[in-house]
Amino acid sequence: MRIINPATEDILATLNPDTRASIQNKFDAARASQKQWAELALKERISCLASFSGYLEKNAEELSRILTSEVGKPIKESQNEIRGALSRIRYFLDHSEKYLAETRVHESGGVIEVLSFEPLGVVANISAWNYPYLVAMNVIIPALVGGNAVLYKPSEHATLTGLEIANLLHRAGVPAAVFQTVVGSGEQGQMLCDLTLDGYFFTGSCKTGLNIAKAIAHKLVPVGLELGGKDPLYVMDDVTDVAHAAAAAVEGSFYNNGQSCCAVERIYVHEKIHDEFVQNFLSEVKKLRTGDPLDPKTTQGPLTREAQLDMLENQVGDALNRGATLALGGKRLKGRGYYFEPTVLLDVNHNMLVMREESFGPVIGIMKVSDDTAALKLMNDTEYGLTAAVYGTNESRAKKIMSEIHAGTVYFNCCDRVSPYLPWSGRKHSGMGSTLSHLGILAFVRPKGWHIRGVK
Ligand code: NDP
Repeated sequence: MRIINPATEDILATLNPDTRASIQNKFDAARASQKQWAELALKERISCLASFSGYLEKNAEELSRILTSEVGKPIKESQNEIRGALSRIRYFLDHSEKYLAETRVHESGGVIEVLSFEPLGVVANISAWNYPYLVAMNVIIPALVGGNAVLYKPSEHATLTGLEIANLLHRAGVPAAVFQTVVGSGEQGQMLCDLTLDGYFFTGSCKTGLNIAKAIAHKLVPVGLELGGKDPLYVMDDVTDVAHAAAAAVEGSFYNNGQSCCAVERIYVHEKIHDEFVQNFLSEVKKLRTGDPLDPKTTQGPLTREAQLDMLENQVGDALNRGATLALGGKRLKGRGYYFEPTVLLDVNHNMLVMREESFGPVIGIMKVSDDTAALKLMNDTEYGLTAAVYGTNESRAKKIMSEIHAGTVYFNCCDRVSPYLPWSGRKHSGMGSTLSHLGILAFVRPKGWHIRGVK
């Protein structure tokens, strides 16, 4: 298995993927050691993971470089990602005791009723490459805090980062058998689905998520699916600062080259301010700097996967064939590395792939709308439901739109944002279950209700 640097196409490492037999051995070892891990006091598990967090912080510079070398994101964004991961870990470590504590909830007719939580057992985390630290921490930390053992399959495109995470967890005292990395591609992910694990937590595309959900349905174990999106942003005509809204929309569309589950994927602008918005948007996009992701001035690195270049060219070609106007970009860059120009399409409509299918790249369509009703209808015209944003001044007008949007997260005057204090939860084909917040702590344990009548 070759790990490629997407900026240079050089081979960074060659690794041996796991086999069915080696994955079985890892599972057996995890099963044998999970109970002992769960028997540790919650405080001890928390302190172990606090030590992991310390190592992550101490090694952030080197880990950022490894991340940039294998996924191609600009070095500043790799550093930001590790900082974001540290704050997510902090949330989990600070709040788990409160939510996992055994609680006496009621007493009735001499019977004491108590609620407690137990770990699921051995769980799988099948993860994505676009934010390997962030999406892994959503699962790994609450799963380990909750007393589970974890078989973690990083994406083949973020394997070096996955191995670094394992290394630091082990240095911090998580037993080697309790957290193990499964190295490989979709084939190894499939092998995990064939085992009798006690929970499956997946981040990735809708297509793979559906396959996993079908493959494991008969097991009747918890499944969490964090899938893709086609997230809309609407700019109302009462927005006070059009230039500011345009700059925020550019950041939301092109950060991490658009390879974010909650990236802005389509923009609707009220007709009264459409032209002014577009003008500001284009001048902001022209400020983006494509280049070597290790250069701190670079804002756009290469895409992580080569195959994505064809997909984006196909979306652009489809839009142009159907009458869109290409305002900027539109093609891959010649030379080494998987670079694609930041691309803006105008005069788009919902017959075009670019307004319907996840782009997951630096391509955005901007569409003019006549009023809020038209905007809302278009925003909801998608099979996805991850996030949606509204920019404007009148909060109650915006809230009316936001309350009718079929998405797990809504934003007013902000976008492309995740907080550990709020659940991250997709609707429709964007997934099911929640990570983050107290719901994302409780996702990795199961409740037990105790009815205790004392002996007189
Ligand atoms: P994929 O679905 O291609 O892969 C995700 C993971 O599943 C990878 O580890 C992959 O392995 C593995 N996998 C692939 N095929 C199978 C299979 N048949 N059985 C089991 N495992 C399998 O997604 P991407 O890696 O391309 O990630 C991008 C997608 O993830 C986008 O749609 C994005 O929106 C979504 N995403 C959603 C997030 C959310 O919070 N909602 C957050 C981040 C991303 P390998 O990569 O090694 O092939």
